[in-house]
Amino acid sequence: MLDKVVIANRGEIALRILRACKELNIKTVAVHSQTDRDLLHVRLADESVCIGSNQPIDSYLNIPAIISAAEVTDAMGIHPGYGFLAENADFAEQVERSGFTFIGPSPEVIRLMGDKVSAIRAMKRSGIPTVPGSDGPLPNHKDAIIKVAQRIGYPIIIKAAAGGGGRGMRVVHSEASLLNAVSVTKAEALAAFGDGTVYMEKFLENPRHIEVQVLSDGKGNAVHLYDRDCSIQRKHQKVIEEAPATNLDPEARAAVFEACVRACKEINYRGVGTFEFLYENGQYFFIEMNTRIQVEHPVTEVITGVDLIRQQLLIAGGEPLSIQQSDIKSSGHAIESRINAEDPKTFVPSPGTVKFYHAPGGPGIRVDSHLYAGYTVPPFYDSLIAKVISHAETRTQAIKRMQSAMEEMLIDGIRSNIPLHRRLMSDQGFCKGEFNIHYLESILKRK
Ligand code: ADP
Repeated sequence: MLDKVVIANRGEIALRILRACKELNIKTVAVHSQTDRDLLHVRLADESVCIGSNQPIDSYLNIPAIISAAEVTDAMGIHPGYGFLAENADFAEQVERSGFTFIGPSPEVIRLMGDKVSAIRAMKRSGIPTVPGSDGPLPNHKDAIIKVAQRIGYPIIIKAAAGGGGRGMRVVHSEASLLNAVSVTKAEALAAFGDGTVYMEKFLENPRHIEVQVLSDGKGNAVHLYDRDCSIQRKHQKVIEEAPATNLDPEARAAVFEACVRACKEINYRGVGTFEFLYENGQYFFIEMNTRIQVEHPVTEVITGVDLIRQQLLIAGGEPLSIQQSDIKSSGHAIESRINAEDPKTFVPSPGTVKFYHAPGGPGIRVDSHLYAGYTVPPFYDSLIAKVISHAETRTQAIKRMQSAMEEMLIDGIRSNIPLHRRLMSDQGFCKGEFNIHYLESILKRK
């Protein structure tokens, strides 16, 4: 069992990890940038180490500084959270080489899944359905690229093999713009991810984003924890997530759950993970696997009663999975609203000092947030400041609960997207569950 863990992240997820560690009597070390010394989890941690200045590259992405912090505090493991170094195979490797436990899968598996081209290949081998596409990196030769697109059929999407965070993608509707789109995406991918490899997929026009949560101990035991619908997105970024996903073909759904569990066993997956799919006309198409805890993990926790961060810590501590598939039941419906410090209309980030903060409450409401009155949201990082999760017997009831929560929640001093969530909770299409990945952007255009 791990006795002391470095939390190599910030904000709400760092606090979430701290809470899970406390329940397991694991001591905590908060590593933070200069500006982040007032973060809630830094105050609550057993120890804290300032690892650098405010730019992520100097602190939360600073591998030697994080490993040194583990050394000086005599910690056993490092939890990367999400974002920053969470899916950096080199980081995982250096953590392990320095004698610490990386709380996540092996560097080899992170590398396999971090390259979307190799991930798709591995998934195909496990019998997971993928999007029709180039089946590998795009060739260099112009005629060859044109041929691949003709075979797939327009519209197509060019994607960076190393892409993430909704970046490094470009949709192409006809041959006229194909070659230019390929070279621009390549250049962008090289600049943003240090790898200019791109591949091509059929662009699905009206899919939903459905993902499957898994838990696997790397010792041959793996389970799924049902699915989430994350179709409410803006610029490929999720805004609302829910669990379980509804209105899916039951046979296809069961087959995908089974295939995900099988794939975990085949790649000897260790830890929590998410298989992401697009779903259209009753069919699933794998797009990528995330080898870390995700922002939206709480919706799965509340419908299954399984604490995913606790499971991560137990598995990293070497324990075999204690839950069997038959133990995992999906109960009721959960919705998560991501509260961002941003203008609700222009989406421009809105850092600054929180003058007053009131969190919502009541039955079936969970709030994961590091906010408090007097806290200053810095301009250097992601604008996520809170996640509100509602849980109820039915989807309609969960929406009602979220609606009240969004009325109750007050954040003064900075702007937030709470008004957008209020609008969505009473939006007809959302309430009926009739939406796909373009729905949010289409209603934003309306007004
Ligand atoms: P990232 O790693 O940057 O999150 P993903 O591959 O997970 O990239 O894709 C993010 C989002 O982009 C999806 O949720 C979906 O909205 C859109 N997308 C990706 N691939 C396709 C595709 N083939 N057809 C239509 N939309 C797609």
